[in-house]
Amino acid sequence: MQAENARDCFSELAFKEAVRASSKRSMRAVQLVRLGNPLEQADVPLPDIGPADALVRVTACGICHSDAHYRAGVSQIDSLPVTLGHEVAGLVESVGEKVTHVSPGDRVYVHYLVSCGCCSFCSGGDEQFCAKAQMIGKHWDGGYAEYIKVPGRNVFALPDEISFEQGAVMMCSSATALHALSKAHLKRGDSVAIFGFGGLGFSALQLSRAFGSQEIYVVEVNPTKLVSIAALGGVAIDAAAGDPVRQILEATGGRGVDVSLELVGSAVTMGEAVRCLGILGRAAIVGLTTESLALFPYSELINKEAELIGVSDHLAAELPLLMQLARSGKLRFPSGTLRSVDLDAMQINAALKAVDNSIDHIRTVIVPGT
Ligand SMILES: [Zn+2]
Ligand SMILES: [Zn+2]
Repeated sequence: MQAENARDCFSELAFKEAVRASSKRSMRAVQLVRLGNPLEQADVPLPDIGPADALVRVTACGICHSDAHYRAGVSQIDSLPVTLGHEVAGLVESVGEKVTHVSPGDRVYVHYLVSCGCCSFCSGGDEQFCAKAQMIGKHWDGGYAEYIKVPGRNVFALPDEISFEQGAVMMCSSATALHALSKAHLKRGDSVAIFGFGGLGFSALQLSRAFGSQEIYVVEVNPTKLVSIAALGGVAIDAAAGDPVRQILEATGGRGVDVSLELVGSAVTMGEAVRCLGILGRAAIVGLTTESLALFPYSELINKEAELIGVSDHLAAELPLLMQLARSGKLRFPSGTLRSVDLDAMQINAALKAVDNSIDHIRTVIVPGT
């Protein structure tokens, strides 16, 4: 009888231990399982980390327009299922023995491109061209999950003044807006024209001001966004009210602007971004399109020595400056610009659908436990 009790007791303990171990080794995630279909709730193994990796407990993950493209099958995805989410901030859960710059419990943000770290592009600080680069949330399980495994060198300390939500969102559109302004060689006092006021335009307007631009025109058609542009100190140009190039030329006394950023991804706005340039102007093209772009080389480029510059992504080395600008309040996300949802497939699918239909706020952010 006693032996039987002991056996019962032992099996109960073993059962509890097995439950504890299994609950410790699995986590909730929201995954893309089939292209063109809604994301699915999943219970997946907690990732094991290697000596150079960090395991981060995700406290915020932005829902980006790119994720809607991945879900729709517009962008190439190598293997499924994959956990989406490339705009990630969180708390370090554990680190491998080679990771010494962050420790468990640290607030961190995650750079979304995992590159080899040793090819000529990586060594030269242009890791976005690394042939072995993998995008977190596309080629590598991302932040639509309770935890994410990333190389330690992709993890950086998030200053206390910056919320997890803001830190996460800055990893994509804000960082790329900063890179675009850098590629366009923006100088203090330069006038700027920004085409499109989504996440990129919202950051580009504030960053241009932070770098000393006083005269910033933002071209949009959404009436709510036109009001937000003015509230952030930009000159709203309503493209629905007439040719935006003519409006910008009139506002600049015929001079045109020093820098333009095309963030929409259409040949029409790309042409406008070139035509609104003044002498020695630089147009940085960020939006993606498969359309071809027609220009009059003499009048639109040669005669002004204007430059047309492609912009691809951003660099890990640019992120500390971005954090410094956010810390000093020069890049802000006022209330109402960010909204949160739980780590829940239904809520996330609804948010992705809303992004496809254009949203008035800047970003929806997954905050597990919301
Ligand atoms: Zn993004
Ligand atoms: Zn490389």
